[in-house]
Amino acid sequence: MPDDPLEFDIIERLLQGRPTSPINLLVDAGDDAAVLNNGAAFCNDVLVEGVHFDTQISPEDLGWKCVAVNVSDIAAMGGTPTWAMLGLSIPQGTSLNWLEGFTKGLHAALSRWNIHLIGGDTTRSPGPKFLSISMGGQCEKAITRCSALPGDDIWVTGMLGTAAQGFFHGGPALIALHRPEPPAEMGLALSKLEGVHAMMDISDGLHRDLKRLCAASQVGAIVNAEDLPGSDWLTSGPDRLALQVSFGEDYQLLFTAAPSSSKSVKDLGQRHSTAVTRIGTIRAEGGVHLSDRSWPPSLFDHFHRETAS
Ligand code: ADP
Ligand code: MG
Repeated sequence: MPDDPLEFDIIERLLQGRPTSPINLLVDAGDDAAVLNNGAAFCNDVLVEGVHFDTQISPEDLGWKCVAVNVSDIAAMGGTPTWAMLGLSIPQGTSLNWLEGFTKGLHAALSRWNIHLIGGDTTRSPGPKFLSISMGGQCEKAITRCSALPGDDIWVTGMLGTAAQGFFHGGPALIALHRPEPPAEMGLALSKLEGVHAMMDISDGLHRDLKRLCAASQVGAIVNAEDLPGSDWLTSGPDRLALQVSFGEDYQLLFTAAPSSSKSVKDLGQRHSTAVTRIGTIRAEGGVHLSDRSWPPSLFDHFHRETAS
């Protein structure tokens, strides 16, 4: 391991050789959320100024987003979010106006998903703003990322690349970057659908996240680039595919299901007003491929290191 380890080396180091768990878990670390035997799910996401957001985002949208990104992880397990705790570190000079805007967006998101803020912690930061939300939820049937089966269809909800479009090209697509709407009700419904095998959220871009799902399930995948859903806002330019698969911030669901469940998946999408698109197939052979081209290079790495080799 290098002297300045990267995100997944760090996580591995932290988790490897942990003392034996004193509690029984349905799902341990490594998935979107951990799940206890009784179906209670827990996750945590940190947003850091200068890394995950800048001054372009309004305080109100930031309040919304820090809730939404955690809702996405609970939904990815097929859970319903119920409570949140907020850790907030802000530098001296942060205005009351900022706090009022942040609180308004925070409350709007809590209300949207019916989540109760049960506590948190507040400190001064010597520099950037840090927002950390821990969220709890309840699963009836937890869906992990490690149960995809060869022959499964690969599906995504919503559109891919709209947040990236907003990040790189501005315009109305910025709403997807600043105010993500993870399809939580759809996640719960999918978890109850027979034939749905594996699920996770797409926060780091389809390419990276599908690789994670496949690695966890010990399978491979083939994806048809033409089938990837894109909103009307998405550019038709040469970077279209990269925006769809190599950036992230979509907060949509990636799931696999037996082909026999295809009609039920589409019906469920209609019932929940959520677009669902079949984008490929899980295979027994390892490797995650596009059917007719190679994957475009990554457009963002929040753990980027200047000297990374
Ligand atoms: P996600 O993108 O779904 O939020 P991450 O990629 O951030 O998930 O994390 C992958 C897994 O590693 C998750 O199960 C998460 O709980 C775990 N993890 C991440 N950071 C830490 C940490 N500092 N300590 C313990 N577990 C961690
Ligand atoms: Mg996730």
